[in-house]
Amino acid sequence: MGETIEIRPDGSISVPDHPVIPFIKGDGTGPDIWHAARMVLDKAVETAYDGSRKIDFMEVSAGEESFRATGEWLPAATLETINRYRVAIKGPLATPVGGGIRSLNVAIRHALDLFACIRPVKYMRGVPSPFSEVEKIDMVIFRENTEDLYKGIEWEAGSEDALKALSFIRETTGIKLDETTAVGIKPISSVNTKRLMKKALEYAVANRRKSVTVMHKGNIMKYTEGGFVKWAYQAAEEMFKQQTVTEEELYSVHGGSVPEEKLVVKDRIADNMFQQVVLRPDEYDVIAAPNLNGDYMSDLLAAMTGGLGLAPGANVGEKCAVFEATHGTAPKYAGKDKVNPGSLILSGAMMLDHIGWEEAGNMVRQALEATISEKKVTYDLARKIPGASTLKCSEFGRAVCERMNK
Ligand code: NAP
Repeated sequence: MGETIEIRPDGSISVPDHPVIPFIKGDGTGPDIWHAARMVLDKAVETAYDGSRKIDFMEVSAGEESFRATGEWLPAATLETINRYRVAIKGPLATPVGGGIRSLNVAIRHALDLFACIRPVKYMRGVPSPFSEVEKIDMVIFRENTEDLYKGIEWEAGSEDALKALSFIRETTGIKLDETTAVGIKPISSVNTKRLMKKALEYAVANRRKSVTVMHKGNIMKYTEGGFVKWAYQAAEEMFKQQTVTEEELYSVHGGSVPEEKLVVKDRIADNMFQQVVLRPDEYDVIAAPNLNGDYMSDLLAAMTGGLGLAPGANVGEKCAVFEATHGTAPKYAGKDKVNPGSLILSGAMMLDHIGWEEAGNMVRQALEATISEKKVTYDLARKIPGASTLKCSEFGRAVCERMNK
């Protein structure tokens, strides 16, 4: 019988040798990739700890299967279970059409206050990429997960609420917008920006990263995106003064050399940053971004390093963490045992790191890289690797397990 992961008074987690970890298989291709990922995670834990540790995976329901069985897309019991066990893993979920829920994924993040979406992007040997300097990519994006776009406040053009909003805007600013205008609100707060930046800095300090770059469009949206930059710098100043130096101080005080044991906090305007990560990827390390910027940047960097089939992600709050494949359900491939399970496998490796089982996490990453570098890949990568053997989803999972060594 498994035991529960607990939170200690200092906020760290205490993990038993047989933790219960709830999982959501997901819709579409979810069951295929979950099957392959579970096989790899079980094998890594068994190999790394000679059988003394084991995850007790517990299925919880959400999505289409849950809706068919219970009429609920996201049962309260699923959220309660994840909340109780602290760590969970999930496949992709379809977006209900015409329901009251905009997106199940967003609903899970809101309900559990998973305010940081963490997406590491690192080049792996053998992965095809259109970029010549792809081996220099090693970044981790911390994307704010609860506001900005994800607050989802918007009104349809012509609706009563949109017209009310238009008249409020006209009365308070004097700006007259056409009646056919749809209206959206972009909320960004100091509280949520600071806790996101704290997570990014904690990670950067613990992993001895070189810099944290705040990505924004504050030159145009002075109070929302501009606020994000201002509050991010304040968080660094208030909570990480000893460990950080701003880029401005780096040149005005330190002559351009980073003082020992410090990391640089800098900011970049989003459009400029998109071209810089392509042209000079080694200048970027940890990135802190509001919701929409972080979304775009995550997919750009994922595309540069092998595509969505290999992009892992985690949604993390103070009390819970949910690890997930970052792509969607890819419904046209559902049940075909075809797609790349790499995203969920690598998300599982992040989960193992999160619970302190780094030996197993590293084993997963090494075995996955070894498999790809031998040109044994699923269809998505095979398209771009001359001479590759195309494996099914489950075959790829087995190939990763076979390459797992202590
Ligand atoms: P998608 O499911 O991500 O699929 C788009 C394309 O990406 C696929 O056709 C495939 O491209 C490629 N792809 C995705 N997963 C792959 C994998 N594991 N291996 C290899 N290639 C992969 O996006 P979508 O079709 O726009 O969305 C479908 C549903 O998923 C929607 O209901 C959407 O709301 C939902 N969704 C859920 C999540 C989530 O749960 N986190 C995220 C995004 C979307 P090729 O056909 O070119 O090979």
